[in-house]
Amino acid sequence: MVTASSSSAARRKTENNQLHLLVAASPTINAVRRFFYGSALALALAGCAENQITGRSQLLLVSESQAISQSAVAYNEMMGDFGKKKEIETGTARAAKVHEITNRLVAQAVRFRPDSANWKWEVQVINDPKTVNAFCMAGGKMAIYTGMWEKVHATDDEIAEVMGHEISHALLNHTQERMSVALSSQVGLAAAAIVLAPRDRTGLALTGAAAAAALAIQLPNSRESESEADQVGIELAARAGYDPAAAVTLWDKMGKLGGQPPEFLSTHPSPEHRSARLKELGGKLQPVYLTAKNTPPPAQQYLK
Ligand SMILES: [Zn+2]
Repeated sequence: MVTASSSSAARRKTENNQLHLLVAASPTINAVRRFFYGSALALALAGCAENQITGRSQLLLVSESQAISQSAVAYNEMMGDFGKKKEIETGTARAAKVHEITNRLVAQAVRFRPDSANWKWEVQVINDPKTVNAFCMAGGKMAIYTGMWEKVHATDDEIAEVMGHEISHALLNHTQERMSVALSSQVGLAAAAIVLAPRDRTGLALTGAAAAAALAIQLPNSRESESEADQVGIELAARAGYDPAAAVTLWDKMGKLGGQPPEFLSTHPSPEHRSARLKELGGKLQPVYLTAKNTPPPAQQYLK
């Protein structure tokens, strides 16, 4: 159904998923990342499984159901913490729009991966205007930070591209993959506790797989994962009626924000390459987008 998928899938103000392009990682997180990826190499042969959508081999040390249940635990803890600090935005036009856009994307995600209709999809807007970020955990638990509007001035189409990309990471089991990397080391999880409980904030009471789930959204994806999420995400958005050209304008805008490139950029496609590829994919998807825009597909209510 997803025709563009040719080949086959602390202050908690860290960059996540595809949005790490601009935010410089803290030294602690960089150290954690280096450690985890060293561990992942050692364990690469121990728990590999072939992804049913992409055919790519993934390190999976936790089951999908475990990834989903523990992500929900971590998400609820995180949102409870944001809620206590009154940082969850509700009742605004922006929050309503995020719900509408995300629900339309989820309706397409469910067509792409029917079992995800049973996920307890949820999205929250985090009122943190300095943070340019969004994520989707295993099982469809999502958040987007208000820096996407305040700093990037993202349009609705661009928000759809962000969320489409994040949803794709979950659909393609990337969160499960990164949780496995985190769980591959108890020492790594101890370091995770430092990241998750920064001195100036209330710490999260998470251990084991739930801590790994929270950490997973702070760890970088591989180049392959990013490429897969770009491809599936832009198509989900087009099928939901959002302009694929927005994927390119989004990257251009983010590129102009400045800031230090993160250390893992070396394992990611260069911004120029990524922009060119999104442009090519977007061109192919223009007819899909125009059809969906002119005749919006029905979107059942999936969000909690
Ligand atoms: Zn990503």
